[in-house]
Amino acid sequence: MRQRLAILGSTGSIGEQTLDIVRENPERFEARVLTARSRWERLAEQAREFDADAVAIADERHYAPLRDALAGTDTKVYAGEEAVAQLAAAGDTEVVVNALVGYAGLAPTVAAIGAGKKLALANKESLVVGGACVMPLARKHRAPIVPIDSEHSAIFQCLAGERAPVRRLIVTCSGGAFRDLRREELAGVTVEQALRHPQWRMGAKITIDSSTLVNKGFEVIEAHWLFGTPAERIDVVLHPQSIVHSMVEFEDGAIKAQLGTPDMRMPISYALMYPDRAARPGERFDFLAHSQLTFAAVDREKYPALEIAYDCLRRGGTAACTMNGANETAVGAFLARRCAWLDIVRAIRHALEHASFVASPTLDDYAAADAEARALAAEFLEL
Ligand code: NAD
Ligand code: MG
Repeated sequence: MRQRLAILGSTGSIGEQTLDIVRENPERFEARVLTARSRWERLAEQAREFDADAVAIADERHYAPLRDALAGTDTKVYAGEEAVAQLAAAGDTEVVVNALVGYAGLAPTVAAIGAGKKLALANKESLVVGGACVMPLARKHRAPIVPIDSEHSAIFQCLAGERAPVRRLIVTCSGGAFRDLRREELAGVTVEQALRHPQWRMGAKITIDSSTLVNKGFEVIEAHWLFGTPAERIDVVLHPQSIVHSMVEFEDGAIKAQLGTPDMRMPISYALMYPDRAARPGERFDFLAHSQLTFAAVDREKYPALEIAYDCLRRGGTAACTMNGANETAVGAFLARRCAWLDIVRAIRHALEHASFVASPTLDDYAAADAEARALAAEFLEL
């Protein structure tokens, strides 16, 4: 029987690559539900190609043109952010691929888990913000969460079949767009420079997060929630070639790594197929063409965001939610050329210093912490 997928954020980088996997495996998967924020024309094309049951457009201003574009088809058309979460939980799909960006992914993650669905999770912000609520909920509803993020997919693959506790997770880091710049050179960097990631082509927000290493900090938090590993057993190591996607060290000293050319369709395909694997076309990794795989320490003074994320993980409560909310506002401002690149981490620090803190938050507390963090960052950046 074919697995029926809901792909949230189907017009984005991960969403489009998920549809590539569906095209490659028509006997295994069907895309039944698709959602986007504003790109209604692309969403309508996708809905026609896959003969979707339902689509949702989060930005309600695009409802009418989307509905008109799908007139005469069987596809039901919904609008609004709540519709995205409702479709995540709705009847006819077994798997939800959460490829939304940012805090907006949390409610659909919770909805999918509450409906007991398998969650293929790209939206790391769900766990950064609300891992303390999301993981127990997933256990309660027996909803499996399989990571799409390449580092976490690598760790997940290394842990498959293991029962012994791990000594250490080693999360690799490409270093982002500015890895070859000195600290003094970071003050004047532009949006165009920050968007030029050396290894991966991704959505704008995560590409900026990679340049500040906020992304790597978030991945440490994500790893903690997915694998239950405490902060002091998660290391980050710089690996510019992005071939070793991450590693696990066991108590006997053995280290397992997962390697491959950087291509998100591999972890997406694994998340959908697990515990099987797809027969995927494409070039194979050539060790002789990559004779050097190198590793180095991350410069924590150049990239303070990494330590800030570790601090948030150790503090728990709403700390990481505050970091995330401030970061989303600051990255938006940087992309709109309304603040400098260095201001992103400054705004995060400001929000963390001034925000209220809830030690055992509910989902409502996260919503309040997110709103407060955004307001604090906006005030700091004079937006
Ligand atoms: P993207 O910006 O390319 O796509 C985001 C998608 O979500 C789009 O379809 C957009 O329409 C939709 N969306 C955005 N905001 C929304 C909102 N408020 N409500 C409803 N829909 C909304 O982003 P991406 O690069 O595909 O990243 C998606 C997620 O996957 C992020 O959490 C990112 O950190 C993670 N991730 C991405 C990559 C990658 O290679 N792109 C790798 C690892 C992890
Ligand atoms: Mg990653």
